[in-house]
Amino acid sequence: METIDLHAHTTASDGSLTPAELVDLACQIGLKAMAITDHDTVAGVAEALSRGKEVGVEVVPGIEISAEFKTGTMHMLGYFIDPAHPALVSSLTKLQEARRNRNPKIVAKLNELGVDITMEEIEAVAGGEQIGRPHFAKVLESKGYVSSFNEAFDRYLAKGASAYMDKFRFTPAKAMDMILKAGGLPVLAHPFTLGFNEPEELEALISRMVDNGLAGLEVYYSEHTSEMNEKYLALAEKYDLCPTGGSDFHGNNKFKIELGRGMGNLAVPYAWLSCLRQRLNKGT
Ligand code: AMP
Ligand code: FE
Ligand code: FE
Ligand code: ZN
Repeated sequence: METIDLHAHTTASDGSLTPAELVDLACQIGLKAMAITDHDTVAGVAEALSRGKEVGVEVVPGIEISAEFKTGTMHMLGYFIDPAHPALVSSLTKLQEARRNRNPKIVAKLNELGVDITMEEIEAVAGGEQIGRPHFAKVLESKGYVSSFNEAFDRYLAKGASAYMDKFRFTPAKAMDMILKAGGLPVLAHPFTLGFNEPEELEALISRMVDNGLAGLEVYYSEHTSEMNEKYLALAEKYDLCPTGGSDFHGNNKFKIELGRGMGNLAVPYAWLSCLRQRLNKGT
């Protein structure tokens, strides 16, 4: 089966490979297509597209936008967006500003907790590009304040942990609208992070989002169980959504996850990308 990976991060956000390195890896492992989905930025898209043409991997321009959601974490994937779309670019600038406001607050909180850490150290790890919490985790680990990347999240950085700081996010409807107006298709990422207890809650949300233009649901994902895969595939079918899937590869910033293979058994069929292309051509 020809496989693809529709969820991966680069150095433009919190991944450890450059866009070109990521596409080279996709080529090496034999993926037919991949999407680049950096958090709140399209800065890596152009480089990935041009490398894709050079090495013969279909690269889908994408993004992963964090949206406001009370019970948990909502990430909206957007595929086939125009990375130069002015309204998208200006809305993303707001999210990038929100990060720049938040980051020194995390540093101040960590200092208050007795952790000797500076903004300059975080910036050095991020290599001058957009900063995310994984960069904090790396510094905490390398300075010996935690013994693992995950411990950095559990103790300090995760939602509810001691140095967690909230930042501005758009509503889910606005995040979808940004993607739609930029010519793209909105897809709800890793539904389990929404923090629902009852299956009806997810179904009600999806039903509302479909009315606002939702085009797909991330069905296969590194951290989904096979029960989750089945449940989400049934929901995608019921609401006429394209199923999608991806690893959420971050290079060595999320070490157990491999591009294209996730934790080892991920295999996203090329047909799922064809579904998105058909939807795009139909114009939802
Ligand atoms: P940020 O974009 O700065 O809010 O950071 C969010 C990113 O941090 C996510 O996309 C993941 O890459 C990572 N992350 C969030 N929560 C965790 C966690 N509990 N364990 C490991 N990584 C996490
Ligand atoms: Fe991330
Ligand atoms: Fe995500
Ligand atoms: Zn992601």
